[in-house]
Amino acid sequence: MSVYLDYQSSKPVDPRVVEIMLPYLHDKSGNPSSLHRVGDTATEVLEASRAAVARFIGAERDEIIFTSGATESNNLALVGHALRNKDKGNHIIISEIEHISILNITKYLEKNGFTVSRVPVDQFGRIAIEKISERVTDKTIMVSIGYANNEIGTIQQIETIGRLCRDKGITFHTDAVAAEGLIPIDVKRDNIDLMALSSNDIYGPQGLGVLYVKKGIRINPLIIGGGQERGLRSGTENIAAIAGMKRAAEIMGEEMATETKRLQRYRDRLIEKVLDLVPRSYLNGHPTLRLPNNAHFRFEGIEGESLLLSFKEKDIAVSTGSACSSKTLEPSHTLIALGLLHEEAHGSLQITFGRFNKDSDLETLLQTLPQIVKRLRKLSPLYKWEV
Ligand code: PMP
Repeated sequence: MSVYLDYQSSKPVDPRVVEIMLPYLHDKSGNPSSLHRVGDTATEVLEASRAAVARFIGAERDEIIFTSGATESNNLALVGHALRNKDKGNHIIISEIEHISILNITKYLEKNGFTVSRVPVDQFGRIAIEKISERVTDKTIMVSIGYANNEIGTIQQIETIGRLCRDKGITFHTDAVAAEGLIPIDVKRDNIDLMALSSNDIYGPQGLGVLYVKKGIRINPLIIGGGQERGLRSGTENIAAIAGMKRAAEIMGEEMATETKRLQRYRDRLIEKVLDLVPRSYLNGHPTLRLPNNAHFRFEGIEGESLLLSFKEKDIAVSTGSACSSKTLEPSHTLIALGLLHEEAHGSLQITFGRFNKDSDLETLLQTLPQIVKRLRKLSPLYKWEV
């Protein structure tokens, strides 16, 4: 029986979402720019979805821009804002544990005349506010800090960082993909100016993202064409996916509070049991300020890759390192930023629960994991203790 415990890297689309999407892939498939009835229907869906997503994060309807995914949203936010505001300054602040898309976008900006400060984190992956404020200069135009980390699940003090940026007149962007649907996000409370979301992270279809752009924040488009999405993101809108994201946001709004309690129960039982049953195992990330569905462990003396393969043999899907670049052999930049040695970072395992997990999935994992670790340690020249 297969067990899926890798919800951070991808989520199955909720069947209730699929059902809503189907007509828009066929007889209701239209282009919102067309001036006939099918076009009108597409426009209605587009605007209704914009309103539903806005409600979900406490925004206004016309502050929502649909994109092809969170990578594009992050690009539009950082590059679009940098280009538009380069007369005001050329300095951007991020953290050392941002998602790979943010890291690579800022490398690109550095090659194009911008300077970037990368704020360190503590051993749990938390960013201290002073570390940000002491890097601010009169050239700083933007701060970009992820709402929560997509690997270790540590949640940042977003409201405080937002307030700091607002007080200093700096635009604040957050990649909220890891946090969305797991902790309540309110762009006004959190003083957010730009925010990336992804449809799939709330059980909508892949290949659709959102950039929240607060009224008054000026950015340049990166994709130029017919002027859709207020000219910020041209191209015919993916109406079926957008209809799906509307339903996904509504369901998430209704179910999040109870669902996160259930996931948290799984997470807490898993962490307690693993640390108890497996000697020389440690939790990566913050003990309490972490996403309710995330457990991230380090096992001395074994490699994450061999762990993954052993789980694969048993048809259990788990993850190591970053879900978005896990096929590279480089240790995770996030784990290195916590102060872990390369071999420690390589011996890590990420488990993320989600909507379709059952009690039996957790029990299967709890039966399997200690045995796998034991077997790998017996074979490992790195493990110096008795197995
Ligand atoms: N940001 C975070 C925090 C992510 O986890 C991901 C990957 N799910 C992305 C951005 C990029 O999303 P996508 O691959 O859908 O563009």
